Amino acid sequence: MNKQLLFIDSVHPALNFQLEQNGWECIDGTDWDRNKILSELSAFSGIVIRSRIKIDQEILKHGTSLKFIARAGAGMENIDTAFAQSKGIVCLNAPEGNRNAVAEHATGMLLALLNNLVVADKQVRDGHWLREANRGIELEGKTIAIIGFGNTGSTFAKKLVGFDCNILVYDPYAEVDTNFYKNVKQVTMETIFASADVVSFHVPLTAETDQMVSTSYINKFQKSFYLINTSRGKVVSTNDVVSALENKKITGVALDVLDFESLSFEQLSQDQLPASFSKLISFSNVILSPHIAGWTIESHRKISEVLASKILQLPG
Ligand code: NAD
Repeated sequence: MNKQLLFIDSVHPALNFQLEQNGWECIDGTDWDRNKILSELSAFSGIVIRSRIKIDQEILKHGTSLKFIARAGAGMENIDTAFAQSKGIVCLNAPEGNRNAVAEHATGMLLALLNNLVVADKQVRDGHWLREANRGIELEGKTIAIIGFGNTGSTFAKKLVGFDCNILVYDPYAEVDTNFYKNVKQVTMETIFASADVVSFHVPLTAETDQMVSTSYINKFQKSFYLINTSRGKVVSTNDVVSALENKKITGVALDVLDFESLSFEQLSQDQLPASFSKLISFSNVILSPHIAGWTIESHRKISEVLASKILQLPG
């Protein structure tokens, strides 16, 4: 393959640096519009993308020399991977680069939620010193369910071990190595519905997981629970979560991702935000962050290093 690589998005320079040292020519196409990308793409054997544009069939058909697509991140739903693979184009991602960041962020959100840290901080700033109203809840002895045990789910489990809680996992497509994850039990959703105090989502966005957390799903839980989502916004129906907060089926919510984020994750939907968003932000037991769970100083560099190593291992 030729050694011409097109950067559609900007990433940490460690990627350019390592590739250029190995004879690659890295072209900056971060300000190219879709038409320019379509007209120039045939010259490149690889592209680097975060989420700026969708890599659909039209783009892939123009990439007549393309051998690989490198996604600087974990999720691949913006790439038509099935079509790419049918054309022999390898799809690479870098979940090893941001899984620790996501796991730490989920832990931080959970502790902030259980200890009312966000609301208490605001009260103190406003001159209110409310101790009893902000009495916290401990993680020790609680049952934490992790849905999806890949890169981020398994790393979250590692962070939880020191809290002496019960860690349950549901993942129909991966087997938990219980020799390594000694404190983790792989169970059915029925067990989770019966016993979870906290449920954290770590699944890819697929036809199966799209809007998975709906009213009928939430109603299967026997206890009111805390919900954390650092995966993809569309996995959770905001509308149904708001109803569950209203009828107290859900005790608290931490969301790093929202189902009405733009495709690039760079902003909330440009159309008018739905009424469910205004309702969601009216609850003091809801914590939100702007899709930054995997977005740390360290993950920025690690993602580039992981991709560089995967690209350099591709057969020439
Ligand atoms: P991964 O592919 O390593 O793991 C996903 C796991 O989910 C797999 O083990 C898979 O078997 C399992 N799974 C698939 N369908 C399932 C289902 N229906 N029920 C239960 N388990 C199911 O992915 P990852 O790197 O852990 O990322 C997980 C999610 O987090 C992805 O959606 C990714 O895009 C997102 N993510 C978000 C951020 C952020 O900044 N918020 C950062 C990294 C990853």
